[in-house]
Amino acid sequence: MQAELVCFEPNCRASYPLSSVLYNCPACGGLLEVSYAGPAPDPIHRKSVWRQRRLTNDPLNSSGVWRYRELLPFDDATQHVVTLREGNTALLDAPAAARYASLDRLRFKHQGFNPTGSFKDNGMTCGASQARRLGMSRVACVSTGNTSASLAAYAAAAGLQAVIFLPHGNISFGKLAQAIEYGARTLQVEANFDQILALVRTLAEKLGIYLLNSINPFRIEGQKTIVIEMLDQLDWQVPDWIVLPGGNLGNVSAFGKALRELVHYGFIPRSPRLAVVQAEGAAPFYEFWHAGGPFHPVGHPETLATAIKIGDPVSWPKAAQEIRASGGTVEKVSEQEIADAKAIIGRCGIGCEPASAASLAGIRNLRAAGLLGAGEDVVGVLTGNVLKDPDYIYRYHMGQLEGPNGTPIAPHFGNRPEVVPNDADRIAQLLEEKC
Ligand SMILES: *Cc1c(COP(=O)(O)O)cnc(C)c1O
Repeated sequence: MQAELVCFEPNCRASYPLSSVLYNCPACGGLLEVSYAGPAPDPIHRKSVWRQRRLTNDPLNSSGVWRYRELLPFDDATQHVVTLREGNTALLDAPAAARYASLDRLRFKHQGFNPTGSFKDNGMTCGASQARRLGMSRVACVSTGNTSASLAAYAAAAGLQAVIFLPHGNISFGKLAQAIEYGARTLQVEANFDQILALVRTLAEKLGIYLLNSINPFRIEGQKTIVIEMLDQLDWQVPDWIVLPGGNLGNVSAFGKALRELVHYGFIPRSPRLAVVQAEGAAPFYEFWHAGGPFHPVGHPETLATAIKIGDPVSWPKAAQEIRASGGTVEKVSEQEIADAKAIIGRCGIGCEPASAASLAGIRNLRAAGLLGAGEDVVGVLTGNVLKDPDYIYRYHMGQLEGPNGTPIAPHFGNRPEVVPNDADRIAQLLEEKC
């Protein structure tokens, strides 16, 4: 389909060619989105082509993002695509988590099974491909987390130079390790996140660096395929709810856009409802949603779930529209609830990083409040891999985990390693007792 960049603001809707290097609307400063025109795809034919592509070894077709390229703005530009075979993430039944949330059944779509271990890969493959289409040789982002890991990997694969800007002294080690390993140039700046973002914008323009922060509309397009692939895996049977954690709110915006487009083109008869879950110490969108009125950023967001530790989410206007359009809601969860839900997801043999567990914690709260029925079809999205934050895991199970304000987090589902003597009889006796 033909595509262009359009301002998201209803009163503006200015449009720009896909080849423009823009992050906000030059006319009004609003967010930008990709908008499609031209002949619509035929759902029945497309569904069967998409299914057949899974059987081939062609790089584009075996990517869980590019397989669905008819709904991405690269129709005539696939030669620029860089792929690490992202997507293709499992949809898993989790009976123990269903019981924990008092649901008959619960499935998780695990985006932590991506090449760099988070859903950022679904978006970054599109963002890096767009950088190549624009002829850029350098890409950058401001992030201490999964975005830098993903940017570094895709830039390396695409032959682009990656520059990662970090607030000095605020480094999440596991994720930073990935960025260094993938060869990104890593700059630590003596300033806070917002100051660095302003700095990077100036530098980007001056030096011709393409910015791949979550405001980038091409990342949002790639993340749409998370729900497209989910529905393909569900044989296009629409679930009642999709529940996911929210930080900068780019992902929920992408999900909502995908669902609107799928309904519009006739791929599905109706949209599932979207529920986004925030950590209680970083919940400006929750407050906005439930209080109404103007949006107030949180000055000092606090949560151990660092991937959703965002006080001023850039994509909140899009997220608000999408959640409203889907008939969805916004929930918040405590540090204790996140930690316990995470351990339960581990017990399912699945595992995830802390931010992802907000999904299950939120599902449980929504169920307890009666917003979800026991028999409703719910898919929770796990956004990041269990190995992203091993320190958190160890502390929880040892009873050493503390919330951001120093409140101890109880290991309700703790599983401490035991020290045993070098004595077969004694060990045999211990194992008999426990079983
Ligand atoms: C980025 C990220 C989030 C938050 O997604 P937003 O699009 O910023 O709302 C949640 N979980 C993980 C693991 C992430 O990496």
